[in-house]
Amino acid sequence: MNASARVTVLGCGTSTGVPSIGCTTAACLSDDPRNKRLRPSIIIEHKGRNLLVDTGPDLREQALRHQITRVDAVVYTHYHADHTHGIDDLRAFNFLMRKPIPCYAYPNTVKILRQNFSYIFNDGNYSGFKPQLTLEEIGDSPFGVAGMNVIPFELEHAGMRVMGLRVGDFAYATDCNAIPEKSMEILKGVRVLVLDALRHREHPSHFTVAEALEIVDALEPEQTYFTHTNFELEYHETNRNLPSGVELAYDGLSFEAFL
Ligand SMILES: [Zn+2]
Ligand SMILES: [Zn+2]
Repeated sequence: MNASARVTVLGCGTSTGVPSIGCTTAACLSDDPRNKRLRPSIIIEHKGRNLLVDTGPDLREQALRHQITRVDAVVYTHYHADHTHGIDDLRAFNFLMRKPIPCYAYPNTVKILRQNFSYIFNDGNYSGFKPQLTLEEIGDSPFGVAGMNVIPFELEHAGMRVMGLRVGDFAYATDCNAIPEKSMEILKGVRVLVLDALRHREHPSHFTVAEALEIVDALEPEQTYFTHTNFELEYHETNRNLPSGVELAYDGLSFEAFL
């Protein structure tokens, strides 16, 4: 039997979250939990160990909601605020696990994380308790983390290099408006894909629903979930118009990946 991992979507909203403050669209006014989206993050559990992808501003809420009590490693897709600004809440896992947490990212992300969170990564005289983290640069090669083999692949996000991750037959591709050919090769044969699809209208750094569907057509995964969706995409109405095998992700969505 193949080894498996459990993927849970901790948040599938765009940078503002849904509802976004002051917004009166159908998605934002909806009481349906599937229209309530925290900032984008997933967690992958394998044999009791957890790999967290990104630490957005909702990390604390996500950890409480899913009773997450350990984080064995963090992979950062990129340095944007909606993916990093919950970093201080990693302290909770330092308290619980009594050891530093290894974090992995592309060099461009490492550079900005060191700048933006200087109090964590640079020696200084910070007086409070800061997260105990190590930061390691990742290149194009697969790397082992939390007992899993992660194949990184590059995504384009308005010129920024963002890391996508393939773990077994699952891949996560958030925050992108193009996928280079080399990465499409890595994505071949993926069974479950979580893919950026911000909204219907064009955007300089995110796929639209139509653009994301072109990627789905090229890769033909068994199941695709759209993430990083904004307030224009009401869950049920959007799903009604998507082809079979494609639907919007929702916070708390969980499925198995085969390693
Ligand atoms: Zn984002
Ligand atoms: Zn971004």
